[in-house]
Amino acid sequence: MGADINVAGRPTTPAPEFANALRRLTNGETNAIADAYALIRCADTDLPALLAAAGALRDTHKGRTVTYSRKAFLPITNLCRDRCTYCTFRKDPGDTGAWTMRRDEIRDWLTRAQALGCKEALMCLGDKPEAAFPEYRQTLHDLGHASTIGYVREACEIALEVGLLPHTNAGVLAADEMTALRPVNVSLGLMLENVTPRLRARGMVHQNAPDKEPARRLEMIAEAGRLRIPFTTGILLGIGETPEERVDSLFAIADLHAAYGHVQEVIIQNFRAKPEIPLADAPEPTAAEMARAVAVARLLLGGAMNIQAPPNLSPNDHRLLLRAGINDWGGISPLTLDYVNPEAPWPAIVALAATCAEEGFTLRERLAIYPEYVHSTFLDPALAAPVNVLASTITREEIHALAPS
Ligand code: SF4
Repeated sequence: MGADINVAGRPTTPAPEFANALRRLTNGETNAIADAYALIRCADTDLPALLAAAGALRDTHKGRTVTYSRKAFLPITNLCRDRCTYCTFRKDPGDTGAWTMRRDEIRDWLTRAQALGCKEALMCLGDKPEAAFPEYRQTLHDLGHASTIGYVREACEIALEVGLLPHTNAGVLAADEMTALRPVNVSLGLMLENVTPRLRARGMVHQNAPDKEPARRLEMIAEAGRLRIPFTTGILLGIGETPEERVDSLFAIADLHAAYGHVQEVIIQNFRAKPEIPLADAPEPTAAEMARAVAVARLLLGGAMNIQAPPNLSPNDHRLLLRAGINDWGGISPLTLDYVNPEAPWPAIVALAATCAEEGFTLRERLAIYPEYVHSTFLDPALAAPVNVLASTITREEIHALAPS
């Protein structure tokens, strides 16, 4: 738990406005947006009551199990046409560190990942580089592809050959691109980040990032729902949004899931400052802000939703995040960096399991598709066999890996 938060301290009497909002939201009564605004702005003294309500809802639906996915992160290309001011992942052609993975690199990494027990191949890359860079179009041509998605599809096929299940986050995709990826991906992902168009304005983080236009991202997530693709999305805290805009974004995700039923998990991710970015001196979200956002997400999205917070981005707050209502830690890699936050190492899985146990939770491995989507029409029939094979190996392996010594 962060040193500034004492959620285990002596209970205090909640403020009436907070108590009424929490009661109405917990009971599913009306006025939800105003109540959620009140909760996400609650005083520190009311935080224990908020976390207790969210944690209880999680416990009712998910029990005391928290999951993670053992993954390899493959940055297929770090070229990107967008310029988000908090990003150190993206490069231009010719920059130091500019990189498009060769197919022999992809196969080598996947083979090593499989040997280390990884089951998820996260294909994570920049947005539409071929639209901006002639050099990259030549690279694709040399690789025998006309589009990035064609090459990503080949990488996914290699992953399946090697024995990993692909999950691709390639930025904003059109319907035909998602249709091409569906038979080789158990799930796709796109962070909504935030629903407010304000972040696209001059001087804001997405001024030069056309693919961060919220309407385009909402439309892609909806299209994935129409295509019945299990989907991962989430919000990014600390990029210039207000607490109310975090709530608005969670409502937008809830609406998409209500329409299509395909949102398998919602990530609550915190911005991390880095010396080399324009936002180097911007304040990072505090542990209390993260806890409020997780708890409000749990209450708005319900007990059945999988709520995730990346453990490497809040290394001192794992206990707090558990109490706030998460039931998943996302992908953790024994092989590769988090290339989006390379300064933030993954926790050791055994250490994370021990922390979970101390809080009364069992840590279990899961696949890149959640169990509730496996036996459904959301999973492409071509992937049923590899999913079943890996689902059966998880049970055997985790008994050995996570058993108390
Ligand atoms: S955050 Fe994503 S879209 Fe934005 S610059 Fe980085 S890689 Fe590109």
